[in-house]
Amino acid sequence: GYHRLVKENRDLYNIVQDLKGNIRVYCRIRPVFNDEAGSIVDFIGQDDSLAISDPSKPQSEGRKIFNFNKVFGPTCSQNDIYADIQPLIRSVMDGYNVCIFAYGQTGSGKTHTMSCPSDGSSEEDMGISHLALNDLFRLSNMRKDDAEYEIQVQMVEIYNEQVRDLLKFEICSADGGSMSLSDATMHSVKSTADVIRLMKLGDDNRVISSSTALNDRSSRSHSILTVQVSGKEISGCTLQSCLHFVDLASSSERVENPEEAMYINKSLSCLGDVITALAQKNSHIPYRNSKLTLLLQDSLSPGGRTKTLMFAHINPERDSFAETISTLKFAQRVSTDELGGVRGNKECSEVMQLKEQVERLKEALGGNK
Ligand code: ADP
Ligand code: MG
Repeated sequence: GYHRLVKENRDLYNIVQDLKGNIRVYCRIRPVFNDEAGSIVDFIGQDDSLAISDPSKPQSEGRKIFNFNKVFGPTCSQNDIYADIQPLIRSVMDGYNVCIFAYGQTGSGKTHTMSCPSDGSSEEDMGISHLALNDLFRLSNMRKDDAEYEIQVQMVEIYNEQVRDLLKFEICSADGGSMSLSDATMHSVKSTADVIRLMKLGDDNRVISSSTALNDRSSRSHSILTVQVSGKEISGCTLQSCLHFVDLASSSERVENPEEAMYINKSLSCLGDVITALAQKNSHIPYRNSKLTLLLQDSLSPGGRTKTLMFAHINPERDSFAETISTLKFAQRVSTDELGGVRGNKECSEVMQLKEQVERLKEALGGNK
């Protein structure tokens, strides 16, 4: 009885999450740093919109409002963000494949959101990949009477449409161009600390010339951290699912090398096409146009067992106006909001009903413990 209730509760929970939309677009505005000119972005208090002013126009004319599933203002902490996406992360343990993308120009906070500062400093600044790993390990431990889980990670980089395994501790083969995620090495991990150790090694393996600073290098390639969860429940059910953290190459008109710029723009626009096609429920999804979408195909497919979250990052300084507008336009293009999806805070009555049912089941479960 108890196990069945737990399972039903989880299923209902996932249905509620499904109805909230399997493709979500969030926006995060990073704080203005002291040495930069004032902010042109207004987090207008509602949690789903922001206003941006064109610094070259009078205040009254140049203001534009953008809506997303959610907007996180500059004072939002890593934990605030994680609290919102926790159900999405936990759905991986119920068999969903989840992709989380960080999009934005250089210095807008993509790596900050995804990862922890590379000096590994304070606990409170840990990004969502580390908070998620902590959570997955905690959850697999909590459920250990009902199921056995194995967690493995992969780390790959896509640079100029070449895929590299960052955790293959040998000389990378020259045919990286035809690699798929199933070819990348998998590393069994028992704790978040194991993953951090691997990620440090992975960062050292990044291919682009070591004469440039890490931030500069990472700006020009996509990096994908994949967490694979394999589970076997005592009921006999097995599951295998993936969680991908994708720190995208920076969207920027400022990339100097024209070849690099071409590859970056092409792959970002292909990703946009795929997400838009998914949101519009098109029968043809154009995965084959870029390595990124091809690699992530299994986690970006229609049919209910995949979820996608895109964080569009905004740098609020004046100088970034053009890039901010281009980031917002891209994010708006893939936003289900524009495409008629259900908005996070405007739930239909079906969701409300299911929520009530979840609450009732929770109560029933509480009485059973
Ligand atoms: P990107 O990966 O997009 O190039 P980073 O994540 O490296 O950008 O961020 C650039 C700098 O801004 C880093 O020093 C980072 O710590 C800081 N930063 C970014 N977002 C935030 C935030 N929300 N709060 C505080 N500092 C931030
Ligand atoms: Mg970065």
